[in-house]
Formats: sequence, C-alpha cells, structure tokens
Amino acid sequence: MEREAPAKVVIVYYDCECGGEYRVSGKLFLDGDDVLFPHTCTKCEAGINLPEKYPTYKFKPV
Ligand SMILES: [Zn+2]
Repeated sequence: MEREAPAKVVIVYYDCECGGEYRVSGKLFLDGDDVLFPHTCTKCEAGINLPEKYPTYKFKPV
C-alpha cells in the first residue's frame, strides 16, 4: 500500500579544488560497466568524469 511523507530537497554540488564547481558538460558514456558523465569546472575549466550528473538533487525525509 502506498504511503506519502513530507520530504525536503537538497541540491548536491560537486566542488573543484580551485573553488569552482563541476557542471555536467556532455553526454553520458560507458567505461566498462560504469556510466560516466563528463564535467567541467566553472572556474579553471578542469575536466573530470563522474558517475552522476552534478548538480544533482536528493530528497531527504523530514
Ligand atoms: Zn576548478
């Protein structure tokens, strides 16, 4: 049976060491069995591959 409960949404950012923030910059690709998304830093333009799209949203029960 379904049950509803209140929740709050949090935004999860992925920060770069330079103080910038990684944003998804391309389409997902496969690396073996892993799904990765290319991200670029908003400040230093460093590239990194992450298993989720950032910023992402999470729901937390209240
Ligand atoms: Zn950076």
